[in-house]
Amino acid sequence: MLFRNKMKLLVSGVLLCGISTMSWAAGGGSVNTDTGAAEGKHFHDKGNYPSKYTIALQKQQREILPLADKRDFDEAKRGFIAEPDYRQIKAEAGHVAWDIGSYDWLLEEGKDFDSIHPSLQRQAILNMHYGLYEVIPGIYQIRGYDLANITFIKSKTGWIVFDPLTAKETAAAALKFINEKLGERPVVAVVYSHSHADHFGGVRGVVDEADVRSGKVKIIAPVGFMDHAVSENVYAGNAMNRRLFFQYGVLLPRSPFGHVDQSIGKNVAAGNVGLIPPTIVIEKDIEELTVDGIKMVFQNTPGTEAPSEMNTYFPDMKAFWAAENITGTIHNIYTLRGALVRDALEWSKQINNAIYLFGQEAEVMFASHSWPRWVNERVQEVMRSQRDTYANLNNGVLHLANQGITINQIHNVYEVPESLQQQWSARSYHGSVEHNSRAVINRYLGYWDANPTTLIPLSPEDSAPLYVEMMGGAQPIMKI
Ligand SMILES: [Zn+2]
Repeated sequence: MLFRNKMKLLVSGVLLCGISTMSWAAGGGSVNTDTGAAEGKHFHDKGNYPSKYTIALQKQQREILPLADKRDFDEAKRGFIAEPDYRQIKAEAGHVAWDIGSYDWLLEEGKDFDSIHPSLQRQAILNMHYGLYEVIPGIYQIRGYDLANITFIKSKTGWIVFDPLTAKETAAAALKFINEKLGERPVVAVVYSHSHADHFGGVRGVVDEADVRSGKVKIIAPVGFMDHAVSENVYAGNAMNRRLFFQYGVLLPRSPFGHVDQSIGKNVAAGNVGLIPPTIVIEKDIEELTVDGIKMVFQNTPGTEAPSEMNTYFPDMKAFWAAENITGTIHNIYTLRGALVRDALEWSKQINNAIYLFGQEAEVMFASHSWPRWVNERVQEVMRSQRDTYANLNNGVLHLANQGITINQIHNVYEVPESLQQQWSARSYHGSVEHNSRAVINRYLGYWDANPTTLIPLSPEDSAPLYVEMMGGAQPIMKI
């Protein structure tokens, strides 16, 4: 199918669904596989292979990156129980909603792709873990079924589900798989960690709305959840939908030359997205609740990765759920699809609060994306590295701005401190240092660099003909 037609189909599907947060879920689309990927062939006739300059640059990166630190690989596979005998999940509409197998070319042992940045290739391989994992006895995750993880807490009589994925179909498949492997249990509660659709959109795959209405199943969410689940993606919803295709490159074939990974997961499942409103809203900064025998301490963290988000601590298990506040990578301060610019300083402060509230004794940290970290020292190492990276981004960029560096220069000037660059959890993919540093200036000072000529710039339609004229017209430019 032509890309343009495919995009039209995806966008119309999105808009017809009537769920405003679909701009997130739209990312999956139908699966665009590439049969030549395993042989290293480019998917496009006119596609270029990496130049000698790119190859040299990638080689240099392999030498300077801390690739000898392989702890993430051990942690990503720890607790593996089983993987299903399928690699695709079908949507109710009949198309493929999820296809982890379309990335299997990444699994060739020892293969370096010169068309992929080595740091991204590493992350993309880590995100290939697929199936059911034990975090600790009583806490389980299914990974590789969607952009996010789905987490199951074994309560007295059933499962408490944390973040039921984007799509009903992937969430239902995950519930079925864990019940097959660990014994059938009813879902007694669902916790939404935050207001993004990859964390609630699949709720109808794990619970029946009638059971929520009757009070049989509780749905728990952070303060402000419904407002933000709707508003963050409605006011600029159409534009966000379009921009999302550029942010994630989801219309590209899955290939070493196309779509490789989304850093916090492989991709977004393309199934039915739904939302059942919460029945319990966590209003206080810190709030304790026991559900079906499981004691949970919630920490509201508004103004971090999402405007409505909360961490959860399980004191009886010394287990800390970091929502999407701490994952295997540094996140977006500025989200390319569009979102209000986030507050790196507040994010850092909320991680700091979590370190002092729970991080002193937590023996495991698990989250809605990426893989868990075990043993207190390692948990604290990752919490501290992310706290410090967000704080340094905010403070370091403002320091430079106060010295006269503008929004149009900052991405070439600001760098993450060397000590943090050597830690994988402080590296950027989803949110790059370049666009996040511009975001901090944008948040505090806005887009203007104080040059009068850039305050009200000409539109591309107005400026492009002038550039062409300045260069002597179209003919000489075409010769270049
Ligand atoms: Zn997410």
